[in-house]
Amino acid sequence: MKEPIYVTKSRMPDQALFFRLCSECFQSLWVTNNGTLVRQLERALRQQLGIDSLLVCNNGTTALMLALHCAGLAGKKVAVTPYTYVATLSALLWIGCIPVFVDVEPESFCLSPDLLRRRLRENPDIAGVLPVHAYGLACDVDGLDSVCREYGIPLVYDAAQAFGSRYKGKSLLDYGDYSICSFHATKVFHTAEGGCVVSRRPEDLPDLSLARAFGHINDDHYSLGINGKLSELHAAMGLALLPGTADEINCRGELHAAYAAALAGLELVRPVQRAGLEWNNAYYPILLPDEASRARVEAALLSENIHPRRYFYPSLNTLPYLKPEWRTPCPTAEDAAKRVLCLPLYDGVRAEDIALVARVLAETIGRRA
Ligand SMILES: *Cc1c(COP(=O)(O)O)cnc(C)c1O
Repeated sequence: MKEPIYVTKSRMPDQALFFRLCSECFQSLWVTNNGTLVRQLERALRQQLGIDSLLVCNNGTTALMLALHCAGLAGKKVAVTPYTYVATLSALLWIGCIPVFVDVEPESFCLSPDLLRRRLRENPDIAGVLPVHAYGLACDVDGLDSVCREYGIPLVYDAAQAFGSRYKGKSLLDYGDYSICSFHATKVFHTAEGGCVVSRRPEDLPDLSLARAFGHINDDHYSLGINGKLSELHAAMGLALLPGTADEINCRGELHAAYAAALAGLELVRPVQRAGLEWNNAYYPILLPDEASRARVEAALLSENIHPRRYFYPSLNTLPYLKPEWRTPCPTAEDAAKRVLCLPLYDGVRAEDIALVARVLAETIGRRA
């Protein structure tokens, strides 16, 4: 059997560099609690992304809980996209929020500002909005911003997949009142496990920082906190991987071009890249014509030991453990979730792998007449 080809492969740092960075903690015995490597990583990220008010966290889900908590949204109704990884919703539910699902735009698969405005008119008690830059593609940030300003409610972005994406000249993480990113091992930049939270208002940083470390400083307890701290070993991973991230993004861009050429003429839908976006090319999602052809393509690829992933399936408004009254229909997201596959994309996917994927697709769904 051939080597399996997965949807992604974790990028690993230069071992000697990683060990050199780690050796500092072997000497200092300071392995967590806002250590020197964590602070060094925060400085490097702030500089690279051009964002001053950024704190690193132990994962993207905790970062999102911190952002929602500091935005004052705990326990309230929050409008959320159903077309995302389940962690977006889990973060909301763990802080007691009530999800109000708002469907996505058919071109970008991101939360629709028009549908949001309609929902806010019907539900004036919606206290905040949580859209996702799906695949690192940009939401209609101007549209969403103006709806949220009109209603005076906070806008919190899940930008977990958007590291390295830039929109209108600045990082996509620099939009909204709060934004979070994930540094999970499957993302373009990672720390094995990790993430960050960004706030529009620098004066929020002390509150976020306090909440990230249990809400107390020594014996003085100020407010509700959680353990959101990144360890020194994870920070070392991040410091060792950060310099190679631009090359990884460029490489994925080249693979995108190769896929686009190989798949030309097939009956596939691809998300539309908004004008003004420099995409991080983190994923290669395709929508098959219908659910049955998606299943056939997935089976045919698996028989070649190629493992695509259904990002994002299922549409979260259909999850069985939600209260029935929360499961409001979102036809665009539900349809996309049934038809989507993400194809293998990482530095190491070869031209012949892409040719094989294209051949399997053409044989399964046929070329356009
Ligand atoms: C990866 C991801 C998360 C979760 O991040 P973790 O760091 O794994 O907690 C949340 N939302 C989206 C859209 C993601 O892709």
